[in-house]
Amino acid sequence: TGPDADTLVIFGITGDLAKKYLMPALYRLAARDELRTMIMGVARSDWDTGTLRQRTREAIAEHLAQTPSEHGAEVDESVLRGLTERMTMVTGDLNDPRTYAAIADALPQDSFTAHYLAVPPALFTTVAQALAKAGLNRDSRLILEKPFGHDLASARELHRELLGCFPSESLYLVDHFLGEEPVRGLPVTRFGNTLVEPVWNRAFVDNVQITMAEDFGVDDRGSFYDAAGALRDVFQNHLLQLFALLTMDAPVSTEPSVVKDEKLRLLRAVRTIEPDDTVRGRYHGYLDTEGVAPDSTTETFFALRMWVDNRRWAGVPFYVRSGKNMPLTSWEVVAELKRPAVDLYPGPANLIRFQLEPRVGLTFEMLLNKPGAEGDSAAGLVLGADVARQLGQGHEAYEHVLHGAVTGSPEQFVRFDVVEESWRIVDSVIDSETEPEPYARGSYGPVSAQELPGAQGWHPLADAVRPDGFPE
Ligand code: NAP
Repeated sequence: TGPDADTLVIFGITGDLAKKYLMPALYRLAARDELRTMIMGVARSDWDTGTLRQRTREAIAEHLAQTPSEHGAEVDESVLRGLTERMTMVTGDLNDPRTYAAIADALPQDSFTAHYLAVPPALFTTVAQALAKAGLNRDSRLILEKPFGHDLASARELHRELLGCFPSESLYLVDHFLGEEPVRGLPVTRFGNTLVEPVWNRAFVDNVQITMAEDFGVDDRGSFYDAAGALRDVFQNHLLQLFALLTMDAPVSTEPSVVKDEKLRLLRAVRTIEPDDTVRGRYHGYLDTEGVAPDSTTETFFALRMWVDNRRWAGVPFYVRSGKNMPLTSWEVVAELKRPAVDLYPGPANLIRFQLEPRVGLTFEMLLNKPGAEGDSAAGLVLGADVARQLGQGHEAYEHVLHGAVTGSPEQFVRFDVVEESWRIVDSVIDSETEPEPYARGSYGPVSAQELPGAQGWHPLADAVRPDGFPE
């Protein structure tokens, strides 16, 4: 942990990320009185401080209309004023040293600064080096948005360049997925429960299936998406972070660096994914999207078989799939447990299900005798917790991200050695030039992906079989 920042400098304040996520999160933090820093916006667009304040108001109003806070859909004028009064704008090109001189002039003396890079990744090194040259790397930390490199080699290069400008403990790499409440909560569910932890290993788990399905396509992000693809967009970062939290051994403490050491140890045991264990898919019509190359081989869907070669997981297959234009939006982890050693009562296997999106829940699917039945009649029973209803909604991911950035709490940020290990795992499948297999919009991907986990296929998603996701 580091000192609280006196100023948060947001490079790229005029961009999409700032508008959609950062400004609303700043407002929500301010509404809870958890944010007292000065905020400086930097970009090339011709905005002055008045424009910045006005655009912040508009972004927040738009956000609240779509996603009301616990205080409703209306902007609280006093919160908004308190926030925007602390905002200033510095206009300039980030390739121009004068921009950094202007930032230095506008920053208070003897203060601590959080530099937040919400700019295209091609500028990460440029900005870090210019900050160092201007002496703005002292008493500060650097927060970066993904992507961290394009593959293993470029991630290493970026890391090396950034280390020339900031010490490693001052580099905060954002994976907003780690700010999502159910992801933050996973270690508690896993390590805080004797119902879960003792069975969470190869002796009791038959296989694990992880799904991150989205019911929409790439929309107007064609050129961005075509250069990335599903494996880069969500697997190398979000899903491998989730995977590490799901499968790592118990850390000896909750100290962020100790947890990150455990994640790294786990990822080192993950076998490099081979093309034979990979299905890549592309939905019908993707090539007609604006910004997509006519000869594109980018995947909009993948399904993978993964192995972890350690004492806890050796021999347990993990199936991971994600795609655009699936039948529904749902993120879910299902662990299928092995049958009892002496299997007297045939019936469905026990399942432990973590629901992450759109509902947050945990369910145990078990076998019970059907009351009143003649003879033995085992029936599946779902015991479920609706976390939001029982424990509350919690905060949005970017509230945790910004709060951590400002207060110097590194737990939900990613460490570069973990990033590099994640690229190693996918490096041999991300640049495939083979044609992805076609799939219909509104399906669960190509047929070969549906059969990846063997004849029984994927367990139906809870959201697909029970519209409310939970038993009555
Ligand atoms: P964007 O809409 O293109 O915004 C880029 C920002 O950078 C703008 O404010 C732009 O300001 C500024 N900028 C670009 N070149 C500049 C230069 N030479 N000098 C000064 N400012 C410059 O991009 P974005 O979608 O917000 O993404 C920003 C970062 O967040 C990227 O690393 C992206 O990968 C990451 N990210 C975005 C999302 C998302 O949903 N948008 C999600 C996760 C991660 P001017 O044009 O005014 O100069």
